[in-house]
Amino acid sequence: MANFMQQAVDEAVQGVQKGDGGPFGALVVKDGQIIASGHNMVLITKDPTAHAEVTAIRMACAKLGTFDLKGCVLYTSCHPCPMCMGASLWARLDAVYYAATPEQAANVGFDDKAFYDYINSPNKNEEMCRLEHVEIDQYLKPFELWSSLESKTPY
Ligand SMILES: [Zn+2]
Repeated sequence: MANFMQQAVDEAVQGVQKGDGGPFGALVVKDGQIIASGHNMVLITKDPTAHAEVTAIRMACAKLGTFDLKGCVLYTSCHPCPMCMGASLWARLDAVYYAATPEQAANVGFDDKAFYDYINSPNKNEEMCRLEHVEIDQYLKPFELWSSLESKTPY
């Protein structure tokens, strides 16, 4: 376990040295084998979703040819932000192991506590991002279509 975490931290260091993005690295591991490793690529890709965990999950899925990472675990150099935790849940990872704490990340300018607070009560934090329900005719049509499909791939 320590070995994999060391590699996630090394990946984070390499990302900073290359100038690719923030100081974060992650690995997806299955049956004791590294499937994919990635670091934060936000700066180089100009993609705010290119966090280390998302990058590693995308690479692991591409490599394994699946959207389902059940049986895999994620090692990340830092506690995941809400997006990365969501991605881990959607990927059905068995576990997420992290090294640096949210407080330690906040000390170097990466404070996602506000995002966790927002998710708990978005209506109290409208100045951060307005979230509003907009009902139009037929807005449930995609769900009805999905439900009526004879053969579909649930995930
Ligand atoms: Zn993240």
